[in-house]
Amino acid sequence: MRLPKFEYHAPETLDAALQLLAEKGADAHLLAGGTDLVVKMNHGMLKAKALIALKGIPGLNTIEVDSKKGLTIGATALLAEVAAHPDILRDYPAVAYAANKTANVQIRNMGTVAGNLCNAAPSADNAPTLVAMGGEAVLVGPKGERRLSLDQFFKGPGQTAMEPGEIMTAIHVPTPPRGAGVSYQHISARGKVDISAVCVGAMVTMEENVCREAVVVLGAVAAIPMRARKAEDLLRGREWSAAHVREAAAEAAAEARPISDVRASAEYRKQMVAVLTRRALEEARARAAKR
Ligand SMILES: Cc1cc2nc3c(=O)[nH]c(=O)nc-3n(C[C@H](O)[C@H](O)[C@H](O)COP(=O)(O)OP(=O)(O)OC[C@H]3O[C@@H](n4cnc5c(N)ncnc54)[C@H](O)[C@@H]3O)c2cc1C
Repeated sequence: MRLPKFEYHAPETLDAALQLLAEKGADAHLLAGGTDLVVKMNHGMLKAKALIALKGIPGLNTIEVDSKKGLTIGATALLAEVAAHPDILRDYPAVAYAANKTANVQIRNMGTVAGNLCNAAPSADNAPTLVAMGGEAVLVGPKGERRLSLDQFFKGPGQTAMEPGEIMTAIHVPTPPRGAGVSYQHISARGKVDISAVCVGAMVTMEENVCREAVVVLGAVAAIPMRARKAEDLLRGREWSAAHVREAAAEAAAEARPISDVRASAEYRKQMVAVLTRRALEEARARAAKR
């Protein structure tokens, strides 16, 4: 299939990109790796009169790990770069793991974590961990810069809280508190290349054997990556035990609102939410013990 004609712009500064976005309006789309966008154009699901490529803007691909400020992933940092970054692997292993479990090596060498979030697929592999860790989107637009909690970022399949004319310049993840551990778990119906049928990100913060804080985020089982708040409540402030973890995992499955589709039935997804939530909590707890 041939793509319809479109303008291609490769601005060299963020200001130029913002100006182009303002000029071209709703007919323009931002292009990072294109691994979602161009596929949609190819299938006729999206008609773009203009593409504004972000990869030529210097500094937008920066990755920074700072023990006080936390982790910053620039908008054009590749999935492959995040997956292999030594400081991310050391301090944010679940973030690196989620990037590494996104698609295949070719896609990870083109696609970005920011593109994964902005595309807003309910199954986006990088969303659950980043939401669970209290990540924020750094957005720049006509009114200046703002930060938006990723918990508030997703509005529905393909829909985000970004306003027209805004560009995500980075994702910021705060330094996890002392005693925190994070895990990402996922399952795909057709192995490595397929998107997740279910995915779970969890962060727990421990004090001795008491769970002070728990955040559980489920992917591919609702219109957006969703917090399993009742499951979190069952863990918060309680002694850690296998029974409490099983109880929370069952509650997460009850909260999930999956649909049946080509990848999995709703019933299977619910069962997998319980399994993956338990695994995510156990791994997060084990990691918390090491910090
Ligand atoms: C074969 C294949 C396998 C895949 N497997 C997986 C998988 O296993 N898991 C998974 O989660 N995804 C998967 N994907 C989807 C895709 O690869 C990822 O979502 C990827 O991270 C998208 O990043 P990108 O840079 O290519 O985004 P693009 O396609 O460039 O952009 C995606 C959307 O985000 C917008 N956008 C991009 N950057 C910005 C920005 N900085 N500010 C504002 N808006 C922006 C674009 O306008 C577009 O609407 C797969 C895709 C393919 C083709």
